[in-house]
Amino acid sequence: MATQENPTVGWIGLGNMGAPLATRLVDEGYSTAVWNRTASKADPLAAKGATVVEAIRDLGSQSVVFSMVSTSADLEQVMLDPELGLLTGDSLPEIVVDCSTVSVETSKKVREFAESKGVRFFAAPVSGNGKVVAAGKLSVVCSGDEETFAIVQPLIESFGRSVTYVGDGEAARLVKIYHNLLLGIYTQALAEILVLGEKSGVKREAVMEFINNSVMGSIFSQYKTPALVNLDFHPTFTPVLLRKDFDLGLTEARKHEVPMPITNLTRDIVESSIGHGFAKDDFATMLLIAAANAGIELKSEQADVTDGLD
Ligand code: NAP
Repeated sequence: MATQENPTVGWIGLGNMGAPLATRLVDEGYSTAVWNRTASKADPLAAKGATVVEAIRDLGSQSVVFSMVSTSADLEQVMLDPELGLLTGDSLPEIVVDCSTVSVETSKKVREFAESKGVRFFAAPVSGNGKVVAAGKLSVVCSGDEETFAIVQPLIESFGRSVTYVGDGEAARLVKIYHNLLLGIYTQALAEILVLGEKSGVKREAVMEFINNSVMGSIFSQYKTPALVNLDFHPTFTPVLLRKDFDLGLTEARKHEVPMPITNLTRDIVESSIGHGFAKDDFATMLLIAAANAGIELKSEQADVTDGLD
């Protein structure tokens, strides 16, 4: 079967994450065709040798089609829209792999529709931003049937440093959503101690350097260090998308009657950063909200700090 021997790849969604991920497949030498709603975002991929198609359904002739779009509603649109959707067309791929962070319900709905058409559906959401992808340090969590995993594993492994298979069906959606609750809470904790440091006379650079060298440090704390120290909030991941993930997580919490007081509070802090006009900036602007709540305005320390990704 073409899929197993030499898969041809399709890609839907070339945003902050989709573009670097599709680029890795092109760089690995896979024959790749791409589609993006805003056509101009495909230009860098075209320059690298990807084929750019005009309609989602033009990707139906590829053996494996990946998607990386914003929300559950967007995934349903690109897959199931009666006029434009990939899975409602005449020509269908053998496998669809979705990397977006979406709800279990949407994932199940798209999976069931795909399977009714004889298309395998695999969930492969990711952890890490575009720069993390470029540095080869992305982590992927995935679920679906094991036979499909065996086929798509080499493609997914080309995304980065780890691929964690967590079982059947939609399990990966839950793991990814819960991971992002930790992401938001950890970022809020960093924001609070950095503001406390500021008011008590300790530089953010010093606090972050020690954390990054300690057991509390992580690839994440290191790569967020330039944002937190030098206030570089060029968006890698927006608070709007993070709020979506908190809402997905808190929906599960309510469903299963699990109290999550810190998660609830952090969700509203993410929302307040949107209300303060940071919707299109990086979610690390949570630092600025923590500072405003303490009655101070932060300035860039213009320090020579690294994100550790080079
Ligand atoms: P983004 O930069 O906003 O890109 C979103 C992409 O989806 C764009 O290509 C956009 O097309 C496309 N899109 C959105 N709605 C669409 C629709 N209705 N029809 C067709 N295309 C549509 O978002 P991102 O940061 O790449 O995030 C994508 C997904 O990955 C999200 O689920 C997010 O939670 C998840 N994620 C993000 C990160 C991160 O660090 N950024 C990390 C892990 C996971 P246009 O270009 O036309 O707008």
